[in-house]
Order: sequence, then C-alpha cells, then structure tokens
Amino acid sequence: MEIQQLFDFLARSVSPFHAVQTAASLLDAAGYARLEEAGYWNLEPGHGYYTTRNESSLIAWRVPAHGIGGWRIAASHSDSPAWRIKNADLPAAGCLRLNVEGYGGMIMHSWMDRPLSAAGRVLVRNEADGTLESRLVNLDRDLLVIPSLAIHMDRTVNDGHKYNPQVEMQPLYGPAGARPFAALVAQAAGVDPADMVDWDLSLYTRQAPTRIGPDGEWFLSPRIDDLECAATTLYGFLEAASETDSACAPVWAMFDNEEVGSSTRQGAASAFLRDVLDRILDAVPHSAQAMQRALANSFVLSADNAHATHPSYADKSDPANPVRMGGGVVVKVNASQKYTTSGLTGAIFKEICRKNNVPVQQFANRADLPGGSTLGNLLSHTLPVPMVDIGLAQLAMHSAVETAAVADADAMVRAVAGFYRVHLRALGDGRYTLE
Ligand code: ZN
Repeated sequence: MEIQQLFDFLARSVSPFHAVQTAASLLDAAGYARLEEAGYWNLEPGHGYYTTRNESSLIAWRVPAHGIGGWRIAASHSDSPAWRIKNADLPAAGCLRLNVEGYGGMIMHSWMDRPLSAAGRVLVRNEADGTLESRLVNLDRDLLVIPSLAIHMDRTVNDGHKYNPQVEMQPLYGPAGARPFAALVAQAAGVDPADMVDWDLSLYTRQAPTRIGPDGEWFLSPRIDDLECAATTLYGFLEAASETDSACAPVWAMFDNEEVGSSTRQGAASAFLRDVLDRILDAVPHSAQAMQRALANSFVLSADNAHATHPSYADKSDPANPVRMGGGVVVKVNASQKYTTSGLTGAIFKEICRKNNVPVQQFANRADLPGGSTLGNLLSHTLPVPMVDIGLAQLAMHSAVETAAVADADAMVRAVAGFYRVHLRALGDGRYTLE
C-alpha cells in the first residue's frame, strides 16, 4: 500500500458515514456486491459481498469455495471524537454560532483556532414519491472556528485550564444576518431546505494528511485513530483476496460508536457481526454444529491504534514496553482483559508476523494507570472467538490532529494480508497449526 492510499482514505472519511462510503467504494471497485440487511441474501461460493448498518458500520466477506470451516475476521472502528451539531444560527455578541455537543473523549483545546467544516448525512423528504432518504453531505470548505480567549483576558491559561464545552467549545459560524447554516447544508446535499427533515452532522478539522520529519518518516492527520487501522486492514483484506485459506471465510468489519462505548445497534457490542455470520452460514450448505465448529476454528484481529511512548512524557508509559512510531504492529496486552490478547492469541499473531517479516512490538499500561478500552472485548460478547488486540503506534490520540509513522501502515497491511492467507487450524483447545 502506498501512503497516498491511506491519506486518501483519511481525507475522504470525514464522518463515520463517509468512512463507510470510502470503504464501500474500494469494495465496489474490487467487485464486491452490496447487500441490504432487509433483502434476501443469495450467496455464491467464491464471491465477495458487503452490507452496512446505519450507513456507519460495514461488514464485508468472501464466501469460500468449499463450505465454511471458520471465520477470519479483522475489526476496526469508523468513528473518531468530534462535535455533533445540534442546532444552528444561535446569536451571540453580533455573531451566529452553532450549538454542538461532544462525541467521545477529545482533547478539547486541539479543536480551537483552526479551520473547521461539517459533514454527515441529512434526511430528505421527497413529497412526489413519498420517500424519506438519507444523503451524505460534506460542506468541504473552511467554514467554522472555535476561537480561544485572548491571553490578556485569562493570564492563567497556560497554568492548566479546565474547558467547559457548553461555554467554550461552541463554533462561530458567521456574522449576525449571515445566510442560514441549513441553507449551506441543503445546497451541499442538492435539496430544498424545506425538504430537510433532520440531520446527523459533525464538525471535522480541515487539516489534510501530510508527511513530516526529515525524510517524511511520520505523518499528521485527523482521525488516525482508528481510520489508519480501518484502511490498512481493508487493504490487507483486499490484497489477500485471491489467496485466502480455502475453507475459512475472510471477513472485514468496521464499527461505528467505539468512542461512546459501542453499545448501539451498529456498534461492536451489538449483534451486527453475529447476525451477518449467521446469515452467511445459513445461505451456504452446512452440517449440524457448523457454527459452533466454525467459531472454535476462527480468529479475530481487533485493530485499534496504540499509544507510542511520548518523548516528553515517557514516564506515562510502561518502561519495560516502549512503543515506537515506526516499530511495527503493536500487540496490546492488559491483565484485566480490556484487551483480548492472551499468551496463545498473541503467539499466533506474532507467528503470522514472523512468517511475513513484519516487526511487532508490545503495548502494556503501567501497573498504576488504567488505560483505555477498545472494541475487541465487547465483540466477544456476541462472538466468543479467540482474539488479539493490535494497533499502530501513534501520538496525541484523540487530538483533532494526530501523529503516526508511514512505515507502520505498510507493516499492518502485510500482517493482515498474511493473517488472511495463513492456514490456521485449531487442533484442540490450545493447539494450532499455521501452515
Ligand atoms: Zn480507537
């Protein structure tokens, strides 16, 4: 994978809806057929398909030629912390502002004093044919700003500041009397403002992905968590297409709402993935106990980015497990099982990486810091399958603009392609072959 392919994925995916659109366009180009959850699924061996839920989560798969003896799954998330737009055109001191609410846990100050835009979907009424449909919309221009307070009015701002999102994080839209925000949204969606019934819109930062460092070793971009994993696992999935394990169904999943706990209809804690796997099995010839046997012979990569050791705050990281940008794919371990990695699943993944010459490093929290969570252990509620939690090293997680390493993106593609290609079989509980 060329880094420009990752940059395109990041730049186009300005909301979870757009991330799904980006993934769908790559799958369309690779010959995958779109299926609706409400439709009847006729699946043919050797063919690829995908379906979406809420337009913000997507699952793609290929049907193996000779029945389904197991599932090989890579999962990531489509959402990033952002500001949801509740209302528009609220007057304040001769200006109009939007009324926003935080989605996920973001570094608030990183959203200030930079050009912002808005994207998501609008729900459009069509009086003529009686339909209500959603349309993706991206205002795609420098439009909004969340201005900070001048230091002259708060001399203590550099001494640590607690932000109040209702007071300090409301974006300026324009001068009083400016044309309504909804008019811009309607124009971008190509509809009459009167036909817009509702929307799911968020702010996004206008920073384009860009390489930094003397030889472009690193890159800066919004939404690296977790679109870097989404894009690289998808490219690995597509790259391995023609050579995947013939009795194992390769599956690629990207879930919305990880940043708010995953417990939505389309989140990783929902039955979405299990529903899709049940339907796939139902649509192909299978024997009794096929699902239980397939699940026991399956493996999941839960791919969500990891913290690199921060040079200015090295004491925040486990000293025995330094993580370096450019050091390869990160395996995440946690004694409390916030990460699903076990000695066994970590060993299987490391063996796959070794066979594909992919460097691996390990992340663990300090024993006195609780750390974050991800989607793997929530997926296992509905899908009790051996899993490993992995990611790519980055800095400034949940900032409006994050930093990661160019080389790691390619390492992940090769690891994931190797994962889909390997002939992995469970010979018994705790015994595997990897051919
Ligand atoms: Zn994440």
